[in-house]
Amino acid sequence: MSEAKIANLEDFFREVPIQEEVTVELPSKGLLYKFTDGSNKLRIRPLSLGDEKAIATNKTLSVAETMTELLGRVMLNLIPQDLLLMDKLAVILKVREISVSPKYVTVGICTHCTSENTLNFPLDQLPLNQVPDDFSLPVRVELPICGTKGMDAHIILPRLSDEQYVSDAETAFDNIYRFVENIGEVDSKPLIREILDSDKFPYADAIAITKAMYGVEYGVQTDVKYECAACKGVNTAVLQINDDFFTGN
Ligand SMILES: [Zn+2]
Repeated sequence: MSEAKIANLEDFFREVPIQEEVTVELPSKGLLYKFTDGSNKLRIRPLSLGDEKAIATNKTLSVAETMTELLGRVMLNLIPQDLLLMDKLAVILKVREISVSPKYVTVGICTHCTSENTLNFPLDQLPLNQVPDDFSLPVRVELPICGTKGMDAHIILPRLSDEQYVSDAETAFDNIYRFVENIGEVDSKPLIREILDSDKFPYADAIAITKAMYGVEYGVQTDVKYECAACKGVNTAVLQINDDFFTGN
């Protein structure tokens, strides 16, 4: 502590050890971004009380919108709308880890005996599945049915600005065409849309495309196996991001 008295805000925040910004390991490895500072890692800062207040007072936001608002505040070198949805959860978990605690304690109800178990998700130790080093856009998708005639598809990946198109499975099916660049030799957007909207397009192929869009192979593993303390039955708990995620424990 210096000799000088703290007389104003500036003095105070010179003395307080404000937590440093950190870089985030992403499922996409950051390969598909143009970071505004020319680096190759996403940088974030911890939440401040001001962020929390600004978000908490806006009651009209859904959980998804709240997260988007929050990400826009803490990401330092990426335009929020550009964030790939496959990376979103990894960033949210990192923000929680550096702003509140790497420990997230919640309750799991045993599916065998309905006992309550205290669960501890170590946010800094959840396994991360990352893309290969040569990952690039567009992503090639093998099609189980059309593929038998030698056709494949190439897609781009949804970003935060596309969230409304992939909010649930049904919505995603209606919007696949937005992300598909070609099916076999067809690369005309209106025709691609007609093909995908047609009730003849194979369901299996639509599933293959949406799986690739969601990047299901990549991301943070948020399911944790635990043994019930009461009956010793084995359960799987999945980390839920809800309104309380940034408060409490
Ligand atoms: Zn049990």
